[in-house]
Amino acid sequence: MTIVAAFEVIVVGAGNAALAAAVAARQAGAQRVVVLEKAPEELRGGNTHYSGGLFRIAFDRVEELLRLVPAARELPGFVEGIEPYPRDAFMSDLQRMTAGRTDPELSALLVNESYATASWMAANGLRFEPAISLGAVKVGGVIKWPKGAIVRAVHEGVGLSRMWFALAQRLGVEIRYRTAAVRLLEERSGRIRGVTVRTPEGFEDLEARAVILGCGGFEANAAWRAQYLGRPWDHAKVRGTPHNQGDGLRMALAVGAMPWGQWSGCHATPINAAAPPFGDRKLTDKTNRLSYLYGVMLNRQGLRFVDEGEDQALFTYAKFGGAILNQPGGVAWQIFDAKTVDLLEPRYNTSAPVIADHLADLVRAIAIDEPTALQTLHEFNAAAGHGHFNPGERDGMATRGLALPKSNWAQKIDTPPFRAYPVTGGITFSFGGLKVNERAQVIGTNWEPLPGLYACGEMVGGLFHHNYPGGSGLMSGAVFGRIAGTSAAHDRV
Ligand SMILES: Cc1cc2nc3c(=O)[nH]c(=O)nc-3n(C[C@H](O)[C@H](O)[C@H](O)COP(=O)(O)OP(=O)(O)OC[C@H]3O[C@@H](n4cnc5c(N)ncnc54)[C@H](O)[C@@H]3O)c2cc1C
Repeated sequence: MTIVAAFEVIVVGAGNAALAAAVAARQAGAQRVVVLEKAPEELRGGNTHYSGGLFRIAFDRVEELLRLVPAARELPGFVEGIEPYPRDAFMSDLQRMTAGRTDPELSALLVNESYATASWMAANGLRFEPAISLGAVKVGGVIKWPKGAIVRAVHEGVGLSRMWFALAQRLGVEIRYRTAAVRLLEERSGRIRGVTVRTPEGFEDLEARAVILGCGGFEANAAWRAQYLGRPWDHAKVRGTPHNQGDGLRMALAVGAMPWGQWSGCHATPINAAAPPFGDRKLTDKTNRLSYLYGVMLNRQGLRFVDEGEDQALFTYAKFGGAILNQPGGVAWQIFDAKTVDLLEPRYNTSAPVIADHLADLVRAIAIDEPTALQTLHEFNAAAGHGHFNPGERDGMATRGLALPKSNWAQKIDTPPFRAYPVTGGITFSFGGLKVNERAQVIGTNWEPLPGLYACGEMVGGLFHHNYPGGSGLMSGAVFGRIAGTSAAHDRV
């Protein structure tokens, strides 16, 4: 049967994954490709707009990475501090972060296609730069990079989003704003033949040979957070777009798609406690407070609650947001002394800390159980200070004798002035999604592909559980977006 379609490929969503899919579909020969964006034009781009633009990429030789950022060769200390990040290192980080639960087929695709996909983006004019303010620290004139998380899009998420839109439009992709997909249209045969959209003018049916869902998770939906993540997630601040309400997941489940991955899990980070309830288009990811590894975190009761020095920030930040949200009142204080102030990420400058010359004055000035907080800090100091502090790598400078250790970077907090930053846990995206195969086809609850339906980005389930290695979300979006677009363009009825 031939479907007379208005479009060859409909892409739902307009973030990194959806636009990678639209571009790939055009390049694979699809003539009429339309992108449906629920948000108005001035709020377009989903979480991608708010992101730091960081990409986790596997590479064997420093030269390969330099092809993505040729100008960085001249940056003092750039090349010397880079270590190769082979595929098995990326895979082992994914395995470690997810307690071995990452979907083997999908994670292999993410890892194996990361460099090729970043190179495809660069070949299409998307530009990268060294991600110098994200996790990198300068030690003795050399920039020490977190392994594999070295480059980001020029002008971060704002730039990434802008570059994707410009490329898609240059390739003739039509973009419709304020156009929310609300329902998938099905043939009697079971094939997906399009979507119903809601626009300011009302409902409309759009037909296509293939539909790609790239419209994010359910992190902005308080009811779904309560339902799947449980308390206290319904009260979490959202770091990004208010538009990711789980629409795509709901539509796909309604036509028999299979849920996959950790539906009770999410990515959430320590953010400024005064951050707005949803992401701020200008501040974007600058509410993040990720230098806790050089200090301690105390809850309102004055107690530590995580091993702040368990690992480098990009390996702990995505789970520590949840740890903070689960403390009394959903808040905590990050406390530093003068020795580490220069190591705080520049993002800390977007809020004013409480500052005091004595720890006793500091805890008096913040909303905390004072005696317990002082006792915790004194016990910490008595247990800390053994070894050689090295901010560029896990230095093994661990506390001695504490029931809850700090495993690295455990310097004493003893040099005034002292600083305290209030933090809460902000949700980034939900981990639960749909099952897709290696062609990004959505799999039904009968374990067969749903003909004509593809998914990418945050909607892909199974990759992340419990935790997440920083920079993987955008990489996964680009990898699966590209695969979905190419597969959908070749989809013939
Ligand atoms: C503050 C912040 C910082 C981050 N930093 C990084 C980083 O540095 N590196 C990294 O790898 N990841 C980062 N992330 C995560 C990353 O942004 C996401 O993993 C990624 O952007 C998801 O891409 P996506 O295309 O799947 O979804 P999104 O970019 O969220 O796009 C979803 C799109 O779908 C649209 N939409 C939703 N419902 C509908 C509907 N019914 N109809 C039509 N359109 C709809 C939305 O409006 C939006 O355009 C960050 C996230 C945030 C919030």
